[in-house]
Amino acid sequence: MSRKHTNWAGNVTFGAERLHRPSSVPQLQHLVARSRRIRALGTGHSFNGIADSPGDLVSLAGLPRVIEAGTADAAVTVSAGLAYGELAVALNAAGRALHNLASLPHISVAGACATGTHGSGERNGSLAAAVSAVEMVTAEGDLVTVSRDADPGTFPAAVVSLGALGIVTRLTLDTLPAFDVRQFVYEDLPGDQVAGHFDEIAGSGYSVSLFTDWRSWTFRQVWLKRRADAADSWAPGPRWMGGRLADGPRHPVPGMPPGNCTEQLGVPGPWHERLPHFRLEFTPSAGDELQSEYLLPRACAIDALRALRPVAGLIAPVLRICEIRTVAADEAWLSPAYRRDTAAFHFTWVKDWPAVAPVLPVIEERLAPLQARPHWGKLFAASPEALRGLYPRLDDFRQLMRCHDPAGKFRNDLLDRYLPPAG
Ligand SMILES: Cc1cc2nc3c(=O)[nH]c(=O)nc-3n(C[C@H](O)[C@H](O)[C@H](O)COP(=O)(O)OP(=O)(O)OC[C@H]3O[C@@H](n4cnc5c(N)ncnc54)[C@H](O)[C@@H]3O)c2cc1C
Repeated sequence: MSRKHTNWAGNVTFGAERLHRPSSVPQLQHLVARSRRIRALGTGHSFNGIADSPGDLVSLAGLPRVIEAGTADAAVTVSAGLAYGELAVALNAAGRALHNLASLPHISVAGACATGTHGSGERNGSLAAAVSAVEMVTAEGDLVTVSRDADPGTFPAAVVSLGALGIVTRLTLDTLPAFDVRQFVYEDLPGDQVAGHFDEIAGSGYSVSLFTDWRSWTFRQVWLKRRADAADSWAPGPRWMGGRLADGPRHPVPGMPPGNCTEQLGVPGPWHERLPHFRLEFTPSAGDELQSEYLLPRACAIDALRALRPVAGLIAPVLRICEIRTVAADEAWLSPAYRRDTAAFHFTWVKDWPAVAPVLPVIEERLAPLQARPHWGKLFAASPEALRGLYPRLDDFRQLMRCHDPAGKFRNDLLDRYLPPAG
């Protein structure tokens, strides 16, 4: 086909002329081997050009669907193009769970892991933290597997890979016994309470999200996702941290109907129907929003709140909602949570790039002293020099790119800018 494709939000029109849809792994291998430039497209939920290719794109959605339990019962091997939502339903039916999910269940497993996508929870690593093996098609068209146990030198590069090392065909993921979650929403927490008790609030659930619109020094909502089997004595009182227990379901974005959101009010339900904010049955084909996110050391979360407060007047007019979450440190070289427990400051913007674009450098300048790393799949303004200083293994990754892909088959404009060919 030669029609131009866009990402989910419609703010990026891919330059690639063709989108291939092979129906088998051998077909994919053949395609990659004979392509000059090619990259994988997941479900297209990234907000920048990270998935684009100056040559061709390939979707794995037509490959056979794989969900195979490992012999040890704690691992599952899945096809790369599978959406987390579909995987989660199958896993739950088998009595298993993933440790965490992102806010939207519709994103693909390979695409989410490639950008370091995360959910929330101070003990929960990014989604890539569950990966124990990656099977991929290399630039020559070979099928190779890189695993946590067998390849400790390269594995930490292969998981959050930005699609730069190969086309991932399967991933093996750690699983847990399935568990239930109860979701509570508290409203209107004073900013001073949040700043004074950030660690306590962020640690009050298995997964916690704090939402503010920066229109006032108040957190409009805090979503507490608590394991139903939690052994502590916490109980949902009508007031908590200066906020009120919501008396009905809520949507995190002011004015939006809560019907698309996962069930709240403390009703216990399976992990995959509570950990995402949005229901799997709700499938928006396009998004009326833009997103940015900055991940910084968790110990600096309060400093970050203080740093952003003076520019709230710039942020608020172009913001739909800001969400703050925590992510446990991981070992993936390009993970924004690489070797540091993290607080993630996410911004859902109005879909007006000319109005949003000037705000990003302001936020980045305010957060620069805190070593904030931008989310790879969202919009950011950082210079290549600034980004390089944030990732201690970035140059090692560039060397690996040179070894795995000397001709630059998997390169694109974003990689050329931020990870130029190693000398
Ligand atoms: C509504 C919404 C909610 C979101 N919520 C969250 C959230 O809660 N937390 C969070 O961290 N992020 C979130 N994101 C961002 C999103 O998770 C990331 O942008 C993610 O990478 C999207 O996955 P995708 O399958 O759409 O990948 P794409 O955007 O299609 O691709 C992303 C990258 O993955 C690579 N890739 C895809 N498939 C493969 C493959 N098979 N082999 C090799 N490389 C591959 C692509 O080449 C590209 O580099 C959200 C985005 C949206 C639109």
